[in-house]
Amino acid sequence: MKSNNNILTDAPPHSNNLWEMNWIVAALNGADSKMPFSKAHHQKLVAFVESWNKSGRNPLREPFSKLIAEDAPFSLEELARAFTWDLVSRPGDSGAMWEKRPSELAYSNPSLFYAALLFANPLRMKLSDGPCQRPACQRWFIKTRENQKTCSRRCLGVVRSVAAMKEQRKREHEERLELAQQLISKWEGASAKEKKKHGSWKEFVESKSKKNVSKKFITRAVNNKELRSPKGGGK
Ligand SMILES: [Zn+2]
Repeated sequence: MKSNNNILTDAPPHSNNLWEMNWIVAALNGADSKMPFSKAHHQKLVAFVESWNKSGRNPLREPFSKLIAEDAPFSLEELARAFTWDLVSRPGDSGAMWEKRPSELAYSNPSLFYAALLFANPLRMKLSDGPCQRPACQRWFIKTRENQKTCSRRCLGVVRSVAAMKEQRKREHEERLELAQQLISKWEGASAKEKKKHGSWKEFVESKSKKNVSKKFITRAVNNKELRSPKGGGK
């Protein structure tokens, strides 16, 4: 029997699953504090999780089923080799228990090790569907709600305010288009004298909109076919 110094279980037994999930999340976020972890292995682990997600987290479905099939890089045989099992004494009682320990293979192939940890963890569905949606964060996390897309309330606040800002800009853009189109109709009905005074329809629209609509905006909107130029064209 070996002493109870398993690096996987240096936490109270009841929280091992969560403890291991935190390890997996840290690994997905590129941390290598527990085990040497090259960039290539990080990419392999991310690919493993992405494949699992694509399959609806159902190991029987493709593409994930292919990744864990016989002779595949993450075959069940390979995943099983990421651990060795030791019979250890139980702290605080006279019995013993089985404990898993990273194998030598795990140290040379950390992506396999983390994949095996995730695959067998009862809390695996709590892993985020992807990195946090806040562009400046992009960290993997453990979900506390079903469809959680950001790692924290703070990130959620940022993502929401950015979305609100985009929505606001979109509304302003649409209002400018509407105003420009109204002024184009006005130009079509304007007298020759009025037209001459402004020189061109774009000048007319810019001036009449009190510069809410710039000539640059008009040109871009016409090119994007968001705005119709006056009938009969003209400058
Ligand atoms: Zn975040």
